[in-house]
Amino acid sequence: MNLILLGPPGAGKGTQAKLISSNFEVPHISTGDIFRANISQNTELGIRAKQFMDKGLLVPDEVTIDIVKDRLTKDDCKNGFLLDGFPRTVKQAEALDKFLSQNGKKIDATILIDVPKEDIFDRMTGRRVCTKCGASFHVKFNPPKVEGICDLCGSEVVQRKDDTEETVKERLEVYDKQTEPLVVYYKSKNVLKAVDGTQDINKVFKDISNILGEND
Ligand code: ADP
Ligand code: AMP
Repeated sequence: MNLILLGPPGAGKGTQAKLISSNFEVPHISTGDIFRANISQNTELGIRAKQFMDKGLLVPDEVTIDIVKDRLTKDDCKNGFLLDGFPRTVKQAEALDKFLSQNGKKIDATILIDVPKEDIFDRMTGRRVCTKCGASFHVKFNPPKVEGICDLCGSEVVQRKDDTEETVKERLEVYDKQTEPLVVYYKSKNVLKAVDGTQDINKVFKDISNILGEND
């Protein structure tokens, strides 16, 4: 299955991606995680990406598209993949479609995690992420079992630099302008499935599992 998770920042894409990836055995590809790993290793890409991420802006398309194409050619993507946080612009979506069709592949489902704007703010400012595996927690809605420690890998859990009030506002505006048009894009290709992302984490996963079961 070749899958995309779509939705505003804070909708729960990363949270669901971890569950989907382990239950359906597809590699979880998060462009945000790739950029953060590069930032922590101080690579050239990381230094470039950080300038945009810290301001809540998108990393330029030409940089992001090449990274994803490269990742999708890896062996573990042969039988499917799960994209989280990519595509985020129509240009990225078109480049992805072109790349997949050149390789005899296509997107099977784009799952939109629907969460209204008023819920997003609390989710993002309360988010805590694992510095090692990227797992997402929330101080109120999904706290780690031991405060400050990741349930999955035992590493430190911290607040993201771009989860401050000011940056969150900018990121939501960027989503409206640049990413939301993808809802129409994937609807017109008949691959869009929406789930209600305001439900608890396990219920959202159940709805997604049902959709993926239909696609099997
Ligand atoms: P995204 O990857 O879409 O930006 P995350 O998966 O990191 O979003 O989730 C954003 C925040 O909301 C995290 O703190 C996460 O623990 C929390 N969260 C995720 N799903 C839910 C949910 N269904 N209900 C309440 N909080 C959630
Ligand atoms: P995320 O972890 O998905 O919330 O992404 C964090 C940040 O990384 C975003 O606010 C962007 O600055 C950058 N980013 C992640 N994915 C993309 C993408 N597909 N296109 C451009 N920038 C991206």
